[in-house]
Amino acid sequence: MSEYDVDFFVLGGGSGGVRAARIAGKLGARVALCESRKLGGTCVNVGCVPKKLMVYASAAGGAVEEAAGYGWSVPGTPSFDWPTFRARKDAEIARLNGVYARLLDQAGVRVIHGHGRFVGPHAVSVGDEVITARYILIATGAWPSVPEFPGADLCVNSNAMFSLEALPARAVVVGGGYIGLEFAGILEGLGTDVTLVHRGPRLLREFDDDIGPFLATELRRRGVDLRLERQIMRVARRDEELEVELDHGEHLRTDLVLMATGRAPLVAGLDLPAAGVALNAWGAVAVDASRQTSVPHIYAVGDVAGSAALTPVALAEGQAVARMLFGGGEVRCEPWRVPTAVFSQPPVATVGLTEAQATAEGHRVRVFRSEFTPMAFALSGRTERALLKLVVDTEDDRVLGFHMVGMDAAEIIQGLAVALTCGVTKAQLDATLGIHPTMAEEWVTM
Ligand SMILES: Cc1cc2nc3c(=O)[nH]c(=O)nc-3n(C[C@H](O)[C@H](O)[C@H](O)COP(=O)(O)OP(=O)(O)OC[C@H]3O[C@@H](n4cnc5c(N)ncnc54)[C@H](O)[C@@H]3O)c2cc1C
Repeated sequence: MSEYDVDFFVLGGGSGGVRAARIAGKLGARVALCESRKLGGTCVNVGCVPKKLMVYASAAGGAVEEAAGYGWSVPGTPSFDWPTFRARKDAEIARLNGVYARLLDQAGVRVIHGHGRFVGPHAVSVGDEVITARYILIATGAWPSVPEFPGADLCVNSNAMFSLEALPARAVVVGGGYIGLEFAGILEGLGTDVTLVHRGPRLLREFDDDIGPFLATELRRRGVDLRLERQIMRVARRDEELEVELDHGEHLRTDLVLMATGRAPLVAGLDLPAAGVALNAWGAVAVDASRQTSVPHIYAVGDVAGSAALTPVALAEGQAVARMLFGGGEVRCEPWRVPTAVFSQPPVATVGLTEAQATAEGHRVRVFRSEFTPMAFALSGRTERALLKLVVDTEDDRVLGFHMVGMDAAEIIQGLAVALTCGVTKAQLDATLGIHPTMAEEWVTM
């Protein structure tokens, strides 16, 4: 009989934890997982999934308005009912919570509802129960982090956006990263007057240099009041509204302030010292390339380990750890070129190196760039433009990066990520026939 209650204990039932637990269970390990909130974690409950449903909801309004350009007559003024949408969205999320529970059950994983914390290197307590495990995985994710300033308690974070009682008539969104941009687009599409405040000179600073300014123009074209190089100083309640003070002395009146100012690894309450697990300089659990922590039998994946904050990254890491521990193979988490999207309106998607990264890495590059108004808007009256940018290595003709702003960017870049992973060259793009008429054909005719 084993000296441990289980072979594998997983802290956190989000993207990385559920994937690791399922794979380990299917490989025959005795697995338990604890989750303090809802199965599916950030992605399913307060992240990717409800966010994307809100993006669809907000884009649907524009489609109704533009239909007139194609000859449709829409009787009356279209209106949006937030409580109706919220109830439908919540029902879908509840369905997904159930799917996750079933998948874990089918893999033989014991799910324990409650907050887990270390009580020793091989022991975790959840409520009154202590479970011992040969291996432990920390997959507790991250939590919105908000700077301190007077009135910060009057603001909301992204978690709250999914359960608002009512949509605000006006909103100030603070943060020019992907969460801020996505909510700015959602709110604007649903009829809220949006002011976006960003402390830097450029939106999405970790993306290619051309993306941020192009997106800024498009957001302004849509009516978002964009305030770059501005910081929030204080927020105060004035009767029914909020007053926001920015540096440079501006005052804004609004109904809601969303702080989208980053997320920090969620290690609070885990009692990591009880197991001897070390943190890195950024407050994430310190891990090596195979996601092993400072304690050899304890691993960490996803947002809590400071990985790129994306569901597919957490999934890949969780899967790799489970296979490494129970699949007999020496599977390592290789660094991969991570495709990513911002579901702003218009959306952004990218894979590979930016022009600046490629140059900094010593590549001599050729850049191909195309800007145009998509045909979809030819009759609709929308003036939105698209940007496609290709970064190619002049030495061996290999494509180093695809960068795009425009309708369906995420769907298009997903396919190109496969090509990039296979080492596609510019000559091979040129030799590929386009599908006409599409936006994506532009990639093979540049
Ligand atoms: C608004 C928003 C939109 C996003 N949109 C996208 C997107 O479009 N595409 C994309 O790829 N990524 C997106 N992300 C990021 C993505 O959701 C995360 O990168 C991903 O969920 C990380 O997975 P994880 O397993 O590391 O953590 P999580 O999914 O956060 O799971 C961690 C789980 O651990 C639980 N937990 C924490 N502490 C304990 C404890 N002590 N005991 C028990 N349980 C605990 C938490 O309740 C949580 O359920 C978005 C994030 C946000 C906030």
